[in-house]
Amino acid sequence: MKIIDMRSDTITLPTEKMRRAMYEAELGDDVYGEDPTVNELEQLAASMLKKEAALFTSSGTMSNLLVVLTHTHPGDEVILGSEAHIFWYEVGGAATLGGVVMRTVANDEYGQMDLDAVEGAIRPKNIHYPQTSLLCLENTHNRCGGAVLTPDYTSTISDLAHAHDLRVHLDGARIFNAAVALDILASELAKPVDSVCLCLSKGLSAPVGSLLCGTGEFVERARKWRKMVGGGMRQAGVIAAAGIVALRDMVSRLAEDHANAKRLAYGLSHIPGITVWPERTQTNIVMFESPTDVLVSEFIRQLDMRGIKVGYRGGLRFRAVTHRMVTEADIDEVLERISQLVRELS
Ligand SMILES: *Cc1c(COP(=O)(O)O)cnc(C)c1O
Repeated sequence: MKIIDMRSDTITLPTEKMRRAMYEAELGDDVYGEDPTVNELEQLAASMLKKEAALFTSSGTMSNLLVVLTHTHPGDEVILGSEAHIFWYEVGGAATLGGVVMRTVANDEYGQMDLDAVEGAIRPKNIHYPQTSLLCLENTHNRCGGAVLTPDYTSTISDLAHAHDLRVHLDGARIFNAAVALDILASELAKPVDSVCLCLSKGLSAPVGSLLCGTGEFVERARKWRKMVGGGMRQAGVIAAAGIVALRDMVSRLAEDHANAKRLAYGLSHIPGITVWPERTQTNIVMFESPTDVLVSEFIRQLDMRGIKVGYRGGLRFRAVTHRMVTEADIDEVLERISQLVRELS
């Protein structure tokens, strides 16, 4: 039986072209700024997002941490969504290593925060208060089912933050999914923000890495923080080479993942008992709920026995992520296996 793994798009393996590029990459010591492949990747990312400069980091988590270290001071307050990746899944690094308070504002199901709620959370000047210095957005929004923030929303909320003298960071781990879904350039989504990071190792299929983009001055300071947290890598061109292939060749094919996600969501909507929101499936993430009349623990066990790997999100909630290594035929196979499973258990 074929195991179909939709836990995450991070499981994608590098393509053959990536492996060849890694083997052939021209190398140097990147801490001295002398790795030509890393330099090329950083320039490519900066130009695609129309920012002055970019920094190659080991992970999205490291990029987001460097953002907090660079844009804030210990004791500051950072506003971010209640479902933000930075808040949920980055080990509290912003608080532990950045020394900031994380102030959450509710995310709606579209990954947005209400403008008035954000404005209300910005601290006025008062001797008792921490200083609010940073607003973090996320696009696509992971915990909100891959929801896409539009350029309009991004610029409106960024203008609000800037009017209060905050910096704005966009966690764009899947920014190219958003750009492909909206059929615009990623740079339009990054334009209103001060810094933006993207992940190479998700749907783009590279093995490792993230890029943090912003002004030249911002990136230089972030580079120093990267060194401090142990992220100064030497012949990093070995992995950057795969990243160049990812940015050049792998962006447009994300549309296939989105089509497969829609196919999965609409298919699940026809299985009695499964709750799913197909009209909200904008990119490559599908949230669904198991039938109320089936024990969740039994549903999880049965998925596993039938070779379907998805993420469990608590309650009745599951997350399936489509990616390069899941085909349209695999989606149909998953739908077949789940509908049989539900028939047998209900
Ligand atoms: C995956 C992800 C990250 C961090 O990624 P790692 O490279 O796994 O550290 C950050 N933000 C969002 C929204 C993500 O989905």
